[in-house]
Amino acid sequence: MRIKTVGIVGGGPGGLLAAYFLEKIVNAPVHVTLFEASERLGGKILTPTFSSAPVSYEAGAAEFYDYSHFDEDPLKDLIHELGLSIQPMGGSSVIMDDHLLSSTVDIEKHLGSAAVEELKAFDRRARNLITPDEFYHSDHPEGTSKPVERTSFASMFEQIKDPQARRYVETLIHSDLATEPRCTNISYGLQNYLMNDCDYMTLYGIVGGNELLPRELISRIHATLKTQHVVNEVSKRGHKICVETIHEEITESHEFDYVIVALPHVSIPTVNFADDDLAESIRDHHDHYNHPAHYLRVSMLFDRQFWKPTLNDSYWMLDKFDGCCLYDESSRQPGSPYGVLGWLLGGEAALEMCELNDEQLIEAALDSLPPFLSEARECFLEGCVHRWASAVSALPGGIGKKNEAERHQPEPIHHPNLFLVGDYLYDTTLNGVLDSAHYVASWIAAKLDEDAATTHTNQVLETTGVFQNVSN
Ligand SMILES: Cc1cc2nc3c(=O)[nH]c(=O)nc-3n(C[C@H](O)[C@H](O)[C@H](O)COP(=O)(O)OP(=O)(O)OC[C@H]3O[C@@H](n4cnc5c(N)ncnc54)[C@H](O)[C@@H]3O)c2cc1C
Repeated sequence: MRIKTVGIVGGGPGGLLAAYFLEKIVNAPVHVTLFEASERLGGKILTPTFSSAPVSYEAGAAEFYDYSHFDEDPLKDLIHELGLSIQPMGGSSVIMDDHLLSSTVDIEKHLGSAAVEELKAFDRRARNLITPDEFYHSDHPEGTSKPVERTSFASMFEQIKDPQARRYVETLIHSDLATEPRCTNISYGLQNYLMNDCDYMTLYGIVGGNELLPRELISRIHATLKTQHVVNEVSKRGHKICVETIHEEITESHEFDYVIVALPHVSIPTVNFADDDLAESIRDHHDHYNHPAHYLRVSMLFDRQFWKPTLNDSYWMLDKFDGCCLYDESSRQPGSPYGVLGWLLGGEAALEMCELNDEQLIEAALDSLPPFLSEARECFLEGCVHRWASAVSALPGGIGKKNEAERHQPEPIHHPNLFLVGDYLYDTTLNGVLDSAHYVASWIAAKLDEDAATTHTNQVLETTGVFQNVSN
């Protein structure tokens, strides 16, 4: 039986997970080739090491979302299956106007009792609008019959009359949102607010660095992995799909039975989808999901953890840059004498600051620290910057959720063997991209098994002479 071929475009978590699931699920013989534009696989899961000391930090995806207290949690199960250890992460403090607010007493002392009452009321409204169970089941595989949600998340802020309380909530969620409240809807905004509540989810990281996840996937898959192969065109050639790549200035053409395009929405327009009907469908697909959100990370190595014992969590929210998250990256490496802080800026502030050079960004990050962390400058050893403009989605799923088949197959009539995978089709997280990759791998596996069964039946009919008898 002829081995069927699958081409995957993109070597981030989406492409790697699609290859892993495909090889795991499919019964028929299949060969997978994966093309990655850069020299490294793993996409936005990135755990680099500083050059002045062997200390690592997360430069992309920061944490994994744990839903296992509800029901199935396929990402956590996979991490376990790959033999990786996890460590819980947490934080509930906000640094506002140079004060550390870690409890209701702190909030009352610095923001006043009116702010506390408003914050409690906001929390009640949020919890009433989305219960933990609704949060877990918030993706609807068949789309949703609810009216399209057009009210912006900003409308919920208008209900908070106390300006201090409003600024507290904005600071709390801005870096998780990666956009401004007016650019997203109430559901997505509230999901980002409620993720700070352990009734809804808890957080964890991978011991040794989050990049161990893609590395473990790579070590298990048998696919041909072609790095530094930029895919610039996808087209149909008879029953095959042709993927054109550029590698070291040489253009190559590769034909496949099935193709999975596992690119973030921002990268889709960089590929030319050559056939007219396909090009139009991909344009519509991109327009539907084109709600870019932005991140910027500044990571710094210090000669000691000068914030201890005042600050002990894995992260804190800071009221600078319209609200950013300050990670204690060294909490991921217990026992290390060094200190590492990571600033995660989101939204318009991140987009604007992406224009600055690394030195300016490191200065701005150091300036953002409150006086009780002023030792930062004397302990500073090295700073690194990672810019992630338009890298995530401000409105995953787009306006009006599509069903899963429509999300993944933009042109089913003439291109039934071309699929798209992406976190932007779900919730712009690693959990979402896993669901997407698993859905497409299962679909292709079912098609391959069907093809194999048909071929087998035809072979049996041929050997038993049924075809000849019919044609006679
Ligand atoms: C700063 C930051 C923090 C985040 N934090 C979290 C978090 O805490 N938790 C969480 O769950 N998620 C988080 N995310 C989101 C998470 O990183 C994504 O969900 C995930 O990386 C999506 O995987 P992907 O494979 O779809 O895309 P990517 O990771 O972007 O991978 C796509 C790959 O395709 C390649 N590519 C692009 N164009 C081409 C081309 N033409 N030809 C070939 N290859 C191409 C790219 O080089 C890249 O390697 C964060 C993202 C960022 C940026």
